[in-house]
Amino acid sequence: MEAGGALVLFSGGQDSTVCLAFALDRYARVETVGFDYGQRHGIELECRAQVRAEIAARFPDWAARLGPDHMLDISSFGAIGDTALTSQAEIEMTASGLPSTFVPGRNLVFFTYAAALGYRRGLHVLVGGMCETDYSGYPDCRDGTLRALEQALRLGTEIPFIIETPLMWCTKAQTWALAEALGGAAFVDLIIEETHTCYRGERGQRHDWGYGCGTCPACELRAKGYAEWRAARAA
Ligand code: ZN
Repeated sequence: MEAGGALVLFSGGQDSTVCLAFALDRYARVETVGFDYGQRHGIELECRAQVRAEIAARFPDWAARLGPDHMLDISSFGAIGDTALTSQAEIEMTASGLPSTFVPGRNLVFFTYAAALGYRRGLHVLVGGMCETDYSGYPDCRDGTLRALEQALRLGTEIPFIIETPLMWCTKAQTWALAEALGGAAFVDLIIEETHTCYRGERGQRHDWGYGCGTCPACELRAKGYAEWRAARAA
């Protein structure tokens, strides 16, 4: 157990929920931050409170370390990124090879806000669920980008911030395995029932891997990772 505190970028999705457990397992004090930038699926934001409540209710050791949640309104940023995530445009691959859900530089903005908040809260470890492995082509998810940003934050604040990305080199199957290693079957169950991943914001249909439309890129990744994890476990 490390004595310091961590601030987790927490969306209510699968990846950031695993990151929250990772931080609760490791740091004495953990707070969460979420960003409202005009996402068209506010359902993900609703899942945040539910996931936190379930963690507090079902994992007493983690509950003792879980501090306040902070929600930051950055809707002016959302207004710039006029893409499928923030407008009614269709989700598709664009000519640049990036999904139309891409909001340019999103993670740069998230971590900069998180560092300003962490500075005020005395939380110098910033944890995010970015991943290069099953990566959709988002350049602001790359390890090199985040290492450079970590340096910039240190220089710009004179605080030795650490950006931790525990999922950076994980496949989606390995993310499920990490969830089980951190919190056992009860935590895997919490992820299936409470977290949200679907780009279309659908929660209607319950699949073995959780709720979602089942056909958008985010649902497909989650379903594929779950199937691979179950297969590897059974082998
Ligand atoms: Zn979906």
